[in-house]
Amino acid sequence: MEQFEGKVAVITGAASGIGRALAQRCASEGMQVALADVHPGKLQAVATELEESGCKVLTGVVNVADAEQMNAFAAQCRATFGDIHLLFNNAGILRVGMTWQHTAADWEKILSVNVLGVVNGINAFLPAMIEAQTDAHIVNTGSVGSLVAAPGMAQYTACKMAVRGITETLAYDLAALQSPVAVSLLCPGPVLTSISDELLGITDSAAATDAADHLMAGEPGFITPQLCADRVFAGIRANSFWIFTHPFKGYLRAKNEAMLEGSNPRYDEVTFDANP
Ligand code: NAD
Repeated sequence: MEQFEGKVAVITGAASGIGRALAQRCASEGMQVALADVHPGKLQAVATELEESGCKVLTGVVNVADAEQMNAFAAQCRATFGDIHLLFNNAGILRVGMTWQHTAADWEKILSVNVLGVVNGINAFLPAMIEAQTDAHIVNTGSVGSLVAAPGMAQYTACKMAVRGITETLAYDLAALQSPVAVSLLCPGPVLTSISDELLGITDSAAATDAADHLMAGEPGFITPQLCADRVFAGIRANSFWIFTHPFKGYLRAKNEAMLEGSNPRYDEVTFDANP
């Protein structure tokens, strides 16, 4: 998809962070947007901001883990806007901890949001997108963790690797159908959002502002959600399956070579390419 003006985007997890920035970017491209999130207050704030800029907005307080809620939201989106052209299965949560410390209930929770949430989005929206036989694009949000595991991140890594598997298979299935619906796997590196606060150990908004100041001073490898959204749109325009906000070819190459050579896994902190 290269032309967005007048088209319709659906974004899950749109009340905050990357989802919010994607919604803002869709509006600035002249799109109409349907925004889903579990957080009604923050969702309404995003909707109001976009409506003030002249964008037509539909909101749904939707838990992506609930297939019925997603199906009902998809029906509402089609009734309001007609065809859907861009779907961002973006909602996600982060949990950290030693692998053996997560209970079965913890696993069910994170899998239901991060994996089933994506599946529910695909099932609720894609059949009508295929039926429409028009250019459309689905972006599923994975992570750098879709490609490399990290210590303390068993749950997140398992989810994001599953999202990669689902998305790659979906691309093959759509190609077999010669469908005009394209698919991307978004693999963000560090983006300054409330999900990353947990990684940075930030628990209050004043500290979040400090972290933003560090970002502006160029300290950690974090980028703003807005820059992330710019890179996502560049990826969609280029019809790239892999959308890396922080390319890390050198690291991945070394990781894969070590595996092919039969070395046992050893974690070295992910390093991003100096000249992407
Ligand atoms: P965020 O916490 O700022 O935003 C996530 C949004 O998802 C929130 O508004 C939250 O209310 C919503 N949400 C959570 N559970 C939901 C549910 N069950 N149903 C509907 N909405 C739900 O975090 P973010 O960083 O913007 O995360 C967006 C996506 O990007 C996630 O999938 C995350 O895993 C991924 N990601 C983020 C980073 C990063 O550094 N920020 C890196 C890699 C991947």
